[in-house]
Amino acid sequence: MTTSEQLFQRAKEVIPGGVNSPVRAFRAVGGNPLFIKAAQGPYLIDEDNNQYIELINSWGPMILGHANEMIQKAVSDAVQHSFSFGAPTRREVEMAELIISMVSSIEKVRMVNSGTEATMSAIRVARGFTGREKMIKFEGCYHGHGDSFLIAAGSGAVTMGVPDSPGVTKGVANDTLTAPFNDLYSVETLVEANKGQIAAIILEPVVGNMGLVLPEPGFLEGLRELCDKEGILLIFDEVMTGFRLSASGFQGITSVQPDLTTLGKIIGGGMPVGAYGGRKEIMDFVSPAGPVYQAGTLSGNPIAMAAGKAMLTYLNENPEVYTELDRIGAKLENGLRAGNQKAGKNFTINRIGSMYTLFFNEQPVTDFASAKASDLSMFGAYFQAMLKRGVYLAPSQFESLFISTALTDDLVDQIIAAHEVSLLEVLG
Ligand code: PLP
Repeated sequence: MTTSEQLFQRAKEVIPGGVNSPVRAFRAVGGNPLFIKAAQGPYLIDEDNNQYIELINSWGPMILGHANEMIQKAVSDAVQHSFSFGAPTRREVEMAELIISMVSSIEKVRMVNSGTEATMSAIRVARGFTGREKMIKFEGCYHGHGDSFLIAAGSGAVTMGVPDSPGVTKGVANDTLTAPFNDLYSVETLVEANKGQIAAIILEPVVGNMGLVLPEPGFLEGLRELCDKEGILLIFDEVMTGFRLSASGFQGITSVQPDLTTLGKIIGGGMPVGAYGGRKEIMDFVSPAGPVYQAGTLSGNPIAMAAGKAMLTYLNENPEVYTELDRIGAKLENGLRAGNQKAGKNFTINRIGSMYTLFFNEQPVTDFASAKASDLSMFGAYFQAMLKRGVYLAPSQFESLFISTALTDDLVDQIIAAHEVSLLEVLG
């Protein structure tokens, strides 16, 4: 038995399913999860000392690769002064100023501890601000595990087969309306049927959580127009895309600007951080400026702020990072496409910058229904074939992969070579 297998046996006795976040259990791809003891640059190292080139990067945060020296130094300097004060700090002000200077739709921002907290809080503010109770989300989008969002949810929820989780009350579920992504007409119909009752439309403007799905031309513009007409707040959940697709997130690429934005992952540099922000008059509804309550013992934690500030400062000062990530992403995409062709398959690859998904589906993937039409057992076999060759992918078809700046051309060549052999193996 490997050390990972032994640890998994022990873990299952004391942790539900043996993991602290469901997708980590490898249920969708078979086999046992690897227990990771260290990571460096582009590599993960497991408890049995196997090394893997990895394309998850902690589900997004590690955009500069693992154990980045600059972030390590910021954290080790910060810990000299204790770990948490529960009182305001200079770094929180600097972090807020930095985020606001980088993301122009954000005029005020509140730090929390995870993406889940960010989206839960953003929805509460939207409800408080508009005095309305319902919201619209999109099938297959994932906004963390807050009750209101576990309706037709993507990511681990769909991987585990529970997009509508038990434990969410009917009352909460009734206030969450869902529409297919990229289907403006469905949203217009929902809004019409619930006139004056919708507080917010929340979406991942580029979806990572049903695998990567891009907005079709006009979709975001249409949502913006509808929100303006109906007094609905538009919330971009940029927990994945924030500071990943540009130094201003996806909203730095599209002309459509949201009223509120949720952030996470990269803003913590690998530490647990989330944030929500937006127009001043909306954010001033948040306590203690306004009546909408939201708080946190560890919010704005000084160590997390040190890591996040180092990360954002670097990205702000080095925008060429995004050009380079796109170049490496394009090289990888082209190699994977060539591999597909050699295998006689026209599998869909959706990519933007450093995010991509290879779908085991030869039709275009534009929404949850088309994502779900992928061949999941083939994906599972491919995942294991790649792992065997030292490439660690996300253990689910319904995830985006994330490229870091630590991924070199040589490593991309190795991934492409592994892809070619793995695909042929899987296709028999
Ligand atoms: N929103 C999006 C778009 C996400 O991808 C995630 C997590 O993957 C979340 C929210 C929840 O963030 P967290 O896992 O930090 O609670």
